[in-house]
Amino acid sequence: MATESNGSTGNGLKIPEIKFTKLFINGSFVDAVSGKTFETVDPRTGEVIAKIAAGDKEDVDLAVKAAREAFDHGKWPRMSGFERGRIMMKYADMIEQHVDELAALECLDAGKLFLLNKILDMPGGANMLRYYAGAADKIHGETLKMSGQLQGYTLCEPIGVVGHIIPWNFPTIMFFLKVAPALAAGCTMIVKPAEQTPLTALYYAHLAKQAGIPDGVLNVVTGFGSKAGAAITSHMDVDLVSFTGSTEVGRLVMEAAAKSNLKPVSLELGGKSPVIIFDDADIDMAIELARRAIFFNKGEICVAGSRVFVQEGIYDEFVRKIAESSKKWVVGDPFNPQVDQGPQVDRKQFEKILSYIDNGKREGATLLTGGKPCGDKGFYIEPTIFTDVKDDMLIAKDEIFGPVMSLMKFKTIEEAIEKANNTRYGLAAGIVTKDLNIANRVSRSIRAGIIWINCYFAFDNCPFGGYKMSGFGRDGGMYSLHKYLQIKSVVTPIYDSPW
Ligand code: NAD
Repeated sequence: MATESNGSTGNGLKIPEIKFTKLFINGSFVDAVSGKTFETVDPRTGEVIAKIAAGDKEDVDLAVKAAREAFDHGKWPRMSGFERGRIMMKYADMIEQHVDELAALECLDAGKLFLLNKILDMPGGANMLRYYAGAADKIHGETLKMSGQLQGYTLCEPIGVVGHIIPWNFPTIMFFLKVAPALAAGCTMIVKPAEQTPLTALYYAHLAKQAGIPDGVLNVVTGFGSKAGAAITSHMDVDLVSFTGSTEVGRLVMEAAAKSNLKPVSLELGGKSPVIIFDDADIDMAIELARRAIFFNKGEICVAGSRVFVQEGIYDEFVRKIAESSKKWVVGDPFNPQVDQGPQVDRKQFEKILSYIDNGKREGATLLTGGKPCGDKGFYIEPTIFTDVKDDMLIAKDEIFGPVMSLMKFKTIEEAIEKANNTRYGLAAGIVTKDLNIANRVSRSIRAGIIWINCYFAFDNCPFGGYKMSGFGRDGGMYSLHKYLQIKSVVTPIYDSPW
């Protein structure tokens, strides 16, 4: 595992310069009112990358004031949807013009693979802007034929000042999944990126200004959740909070919204998603799918397929082959294009995952592969698979958010459905079978926001979100745009009409 922190990555790529470290409020980069900063760390080494402004309540107040002014009196909500869309298209182009630098920043800050950032995350963010840019001039209400001599119509208005609070596992995708539809709707906003990964969000604030998004429309307040995040959720002048993060914090967000101005919230929370593999599956394809479903992005993905249920007819072969296959999964420096898995995001996450692995061993599950840290520095963990996992073990119940698969056997379709649904979460599920009827039957029975049949992590513009304690509301697709709109009915009598 080649890692160097002296300006090069050990693989010929240059460590990017950190240009933006301050809060972005009303079109300018500013220090926190308190002058305080926090450190963001390179997970490859544990070394500090940069000191970032630590926003708190006073800074959120300033950002909300700017966003309120831009909403109440600025041109963004009042310009035509077409014009908003045109600016958003330019914003998307600018991301692509800076793709190498952005991909390297995200690699450095989050330990995500440079190559995948470059071909998936940054283009994904740019394409979200384009998708919603195209929708910005197609936002319209309906006319209502009412009883008697009444006529009505509906107006779709931007909801107002939005607070977006996002996690660290997909800093770019999460940023644009929230910001793009809100911009298209004509809202103004404050984004609070995760404290582990503030770098790209600040860069995106800079690009927004270059693209022509007016001052005050998009503000970024970096800082800790309990300070900057909590100040957003309890602010009396924020009209909606769109949150992605843990179920635990989701509960706090909802509570703060209820105790302040009853702002609506949308919550995209944790998951413990099942992958169900039937006897008739192409076993090599199923192994590749299951392996990627949990080890992709080092398991730091809300829809990770962390519980794999395999039907008894192919179970033994599956166990043997997936053990071999996981040994070929390369862990190492995320700047290296040959690597499949980089370091976990920070020490806290690294230790949390290792403690779940210990717990799995203590509770009697069998460690098939992995189970240890790797490398002599940084937060790397081997891809880990447990067999003989029981439904009531902690590793089968809790979201680990790391490269840890729990492998379980089932006999019948009914048993598979029951086991898959035996979780407090409901974010995603995978089904691997050649039988279309089994696939459709199981899809209808699983309580989760997205079901993948013979594929995994296929999103494009699908709406997705949770059932049960995975939250509510949908990100992605046109459903998400509607989250940022208010519907107003306007009614008027018509006199002397014969109809
Ligand atoms: P987290 O809940 O700890 O933090 C998420 C964000 O909330 C961060 O910006 C954090 O600073 C902020 N925050 C923390 N405390 C807060 C508070 N009291 N008030 C307001 N904001 C606060 O989650 P995380 O560790 O950053 O991310 C991992 C979690 O996110 C996992 O549970 C994962 O499943 C979930 N996630 C869900 C989705 C989805 O779409 N459902 C996507 C990605 C991640």
